[in-house]
Amino acid sequence: MSGARVLLVDDDAALLQALPEALHLRLPELVVDTCDEALEALRRIAEVDYDAIISDIKMPGMDGLALLERVHAIRPSTPTLLITGHGEHELAIQALRGGAYDFVKKPIDRDYFMASLARAVQMRQLSRQVEQQRLDLERHAASLEQKVAERTLELVAANRAKDKLLRQRDQALDEARVAAERLQVLQHVTDTALTHLDLHNLLSELLARVQGALRADVVAILLLNGTGTGLRVRASIGLEQAVGEEIALGTDVIGQIAERRQPYIVDDLTEVPELIPGLRAQARSLVAAPLLVESRVIGVICCGARATGAYTHDDAQLLRLAADRIALALDHARLYQEVQEAMREQRVARLRVEELATQLGHQAAELGAIIEAMADGVFVCDPSAHITRLNKAASTLLGLPVGAAAGLTVADIGEMVQLRAGDGEPLAQADIPLLCALRGETRTDLLTVITQVRTGTEVRLRISSAPIRDQRGNIVGAVAVSRDVTELDRLERQKDEFLSVASHELKTPLTSLKGLAQITRRRLERGGHTEAAHLAGMERAIVRMELLVNDLLDISRIESGKLALRTEREDLTALCRQVVEEQTAATNRSVHIDLPAEAILVDLDADRISQVLTNVLSNAFKYSPTDQSVTLRLQQTADEVRVAITDRGPGIPKAEMPYLFERFYRVPGIDVQAGSGVGLGLGLYISHEIMERHGGRIWVENNLDGGATFTIALPMTARLRSVSIPLKVINSTQG
Ligand code: ADP
Repeated sequence: MSGARVLLVDDDAALLQALPEALHLRLPELVVDTCDEALEALRRIAEVDYDAIISDIKMPGMDGLALLERVHAIRPSTPTLLITGHGEHELAIQALRGGAYDFVKKPIDRDYFMASLARAVQMRQLSRQVEQQRLDLERHAASLEQKVAERTLELVAANRAKDKLLRQRDQALDEARVAAERLQVLQHVTDTALTHLDLHNLLSELLARVQGALRADVVAILLLNGTGTGLRVRASIGLEQAVGEEIALGTDVIGQIAERRQPYIVDDLTEVPELIPGLRAQARSLVAAPLLVESRVIGVICCGARATGAYTHDDAQLLRLAADRIALALDHARLYQEVQEAMREQRVARLRVEELATQLGHQAAELGAIIEAMADGVFVCDPSAHITRLNKAASTLLGLPVGAAAGLTVADIGEMVQLRAGDGEPLAQADIPLLCALRGETRTDLLTVITQVRTGTEVRLRISSAPIRDQRGNIVGAVAVSRDVTELDRLERQKDEFLSVASHELKTPLTSLKGLAQITRRRLERGGHTEAAHLAGMERAIVRMELLVNDLLDISRIESGKLALRTEREDLTALCRQVVEEQTAATNRSVHIDLPAEAILVDLDADRISQVLTNVLSNAFKYSPTDQSVTLRLQQTADEVRVAITDRGPGIPKAEMPYLFERFYRVPGIDVQAGSGVGLGLGLYISHEIMERHGGRIWVENNLDGGATFTIALPMTARLRSVSIPLKVINSTQG
């Protein structure tokens, strides 16, 4: 009964007062609300869920039955007790039918009323509890359902996750398997690279590995050519006929791969130009990768398949990884080949060196034998002037036993023998040929007289000496070769003596003969005898003989140093003109002369310079065709005055020029074209000597348009130079 609350509705104020009090006495915990009319009661009932309602039936306005009906509508579980008046039996039955819990007759039997109210309240509270429990049960059931639904969802999600995990596990296993396969491929490629160093075998083995790994129908390896401008197909499976073909870099996909340094996939080869000859006939799709060594492209590897779109990104990656190993392998093979090549070359070079050493040995032995057997003396020294070699002739010359020269110096030799120059003057230490050569000088045919101190034997030698240089030009020694000319010199002197005597002896009778011939000719001419012409011919022959004898006399004068000059200041212009006139008169040839108008004064021996000019001019006539003219030109330079005589003859062969001014030298193959064939090869020698005695020069040059020009040059004396008159060149022609 605790906390129970009831509503009492009655229009009877006394009852409303008395009944709650009575109830309070019996049921002290019961709360009793009162209300004197039905509408107010309904409002409260809407607000408060009473445990029981007690209402009078008879009330003004809405009566108890109407109230009951409304209470049922809004609070169907709340028990309602109706109070009926005496004799209202019918009403009571109506009330029960209308759903009233009980009815109480007036006057109210308090016990009964209390008991009925208590039951009603209890029942209400019980029904409330039941209701509450039902609600609790429903809530519990709902929460259980909720939990079941949640668990079910969780289970479904868990299942899905499990499936996903399983799928992921399968996928991971697949990937692991593929990765393992790829690793195996790469391992095989690496193994192949390590086990094959021969390039040919290596290439075919690598091709086979890559073909298997990428299920390719065609595989090809292309390597950069030597110039780096193109790729050459080096090996292939399926495209063997293309091996050796070259593809220019950058011109198509493969070239571009090499340039871009990235793998490349072509899904349909019919959409790109033909890459390698014959490739499109064998494959529809392609994957290719560059062969890189330290980011340097050395080639390209490509795989082709018959199906279109046969290659994936993974395939391209696999090929790229394989390509890295292949590139390294190829590079190793190349290095290996280079090393092999270098070793082969080294072997060949060693053999060649050995061969050369043997040859050199033979040559050295040969040379040694030749040097030993030579009649000329050979002297060799090192840079410190220690004798390293003396042949037999040299040892004999020094009066030494063979092989005794070891350890000697050049200075020691100077003590064993006296050395003098050709003119008999003692040879200074600095002029010893080997020492000159050690200073870098080369000397030829130096006439030296050597006298053995011990025996007093005198030998005349022509010594030539030269430095010995290594490849860089450093002097590493010196060599001198001596020729014994003692006997030759003696004969030469005898010959000169003979020539001198013979020419002197010939000159006098020739002069008388010439005089007699002249007198006889003149007489015969006066007598009108035709024989005069014979005597004229005789005279010319005597003149030619005179010329020859004069040449021979000049030679002996030169050799004996007796060629004296009578120098005077002369006009060279006039001298030239005179010589030309004489020669043209004698030969009937024409000469173009180019002479200055004024005199050119030079200190000279007029006879000797005339002799030189005559010799050169007569040679020009002698050796050039008669219909060709000869030119004589006189020119003055700052220091010299030059006379150049130019002809249109054969010219002088270059190889002969060095010998042209030697005694008795005549150029072979040059024929006399005009005049007599007289000539001993002395004229130019004598001319050379005469020019040298004048401090002048004579030389020859060939003309660009044929023929030779002989030039003589005389120095202008200092005094003459200072007053030199400006030249006026006259281009005149005289015949
Ligand atoms: P030679 O008495 O023989 O002329 P030279 O000493 O005058 O003697 O000349 C020597 C040689 O030089 C000649 O024999 C001749 O072969 C050659 N020579 C000289 N002058 C000329 C020239 N003007 N053209 C061609 N050859 C020449």
